[in-house]
Amino acid sequence: MGNNTPPRTLTIAGSDSGGGAGLQADLRTFFACGVHGMTAITAVTVQNSLGVTGVHTIPPEVVAAQIEAVATDIGVQAAKTGMLATAEIISAVAGACDRVRIGGDGTPLVVDPVSASMHGDPLLHEDALDALRDELFPRATLITPNLDEVRLLTGIDVRSRAEQRDAAKALAEYGSRWVLVKGGHLWDDPECLDLLYDGSGFTEFLGPRFDQEHTHGSGDTLASTITAALAKGADMVDAVARGKAFIIESVRTAYPLGGGVGPVSARWRLPDADTFLVD
Ligand code: PLP
Repeated sequence: MGNNTPPRTLTIAGSDSGGGAGLQADLRTFFACGVHGMTAITAVTVQNSLGVTGVHTIPPEVVAAQIEAVATDIGVQAAKTGMLATAEIISAVAGACDRVRIGGDGTPLVVDPVSASMHGDPLLHEDALDALRDELFPRATLITPNLDEVRLLTGIDVRSRAEQRDAAKALAEYGSRWVLVKGGHLWDDPECLDLLYDGSGFTEFLGPRFDQEHTHGSGDTLASTITAALAKGADMVDAVARGKAFIIESVRTAYPLGGGVGPVSARWRLPDADTFLVD
């Protein structure tokens, strides 16, 4: 590899036509973190700041082929999954990851179990939850559910930090190496606690809770930063700490867009972004 070639990361995710979440957020974050981002597209969403009005899924074998094409030629130092849409796509992703040794004891795999948009639009078929739990979680290095996803996956309706710990333990039973239960949706908590569990001990990542309505793409951005840090060789606790630091700044600098919910921003990482092309 040339001296200028950075570590390579792969996102297996859906497209958000509004550019706020999904693979667009992942690529933006990868770039801001100094890694080369690649994509295996699972679905095209018709989406703007007001919500998702259409989903067109990509054939499972084409999703698998994208993963294998980049892994066998370019190489992948860490991968993440976002919107996977259907049980058939999840099975295809699991098979392709096995063939190119992503996940398990191989290349780190971060699984963000995306199930719905913040407007409540479904991004995962209901019958795909079993596939997520049975086929992808056992291969995952880390899973990163928010509290809505925790409820769907475990039935636990987390209302306190104590229940957040119970949920992490329940999720660890599905076989991922690490579990990160994000506390952003614990609305009564004055701070935002993300809880990392390795099957025996907890590490707490505490941050401020912003009065910020424009948080579209926040889950993708956090998981992408962690993926980029893992690609650069960080250990999991360090990678999550960097993800937390990145998302705090990205939420702080989020911006309104359209008539609905705007995205978190990675522009703070590029200090001359406003002036680069004009004096
Ligand atoms: N659209 C796509 C393609 C996504 O992957 C995601 C989340 O991962 C979303 C929408 C939802 O983002 P949000 O929860 O910020 O609405």
